[in-house]
Amino acid sequence: MSTRQTYSSIDSALSTFPWWPKANLERIHELTSGLSITEVYTPPRRSYIGLVVEGATRIVSISSGFVAGVQDGRGNNWVALPVNALRDGDAAKGRDQPMDPCPICSIGLPKSGLCGNCF
Ligand SMILES: [Zn+2]
Repeated sequence: MSTRQTYSSIDSALSTFPWWPKANLERIHELTSGLSITEVYTPPRRSYIGLVVEGATRIVSISSGFVAGVQDGRGNNWVALPVNALRDGDAAKGRDQPMDPCPICSIGLPKSGLCGNCF
């Protein structure tokens, strides 16, 4: 049983997240425009958009507030988007909900969506 869903393009995947901040979309396009993407998908709980990149061992994951799996030029393996909720302290909301597994190490992601192990 798989509830992973695939899309024909990043745009069609993004269109299923209409609540994501518009201000981030341009940056998402910028960060992903140079990639040879072979698959676009969302995992069962749809907490991110996964991009399978040709020749890469890690996927690139796009969440509402950051893109993980891309270099920011300062040694980080993720890039915060202009509008993000990492500091908004909404941890209380939905704390008990199970989260999607990290695309890299497969442990459950914290509420921020950014794996403490991998990023
Ligand atoms: Zn991880």
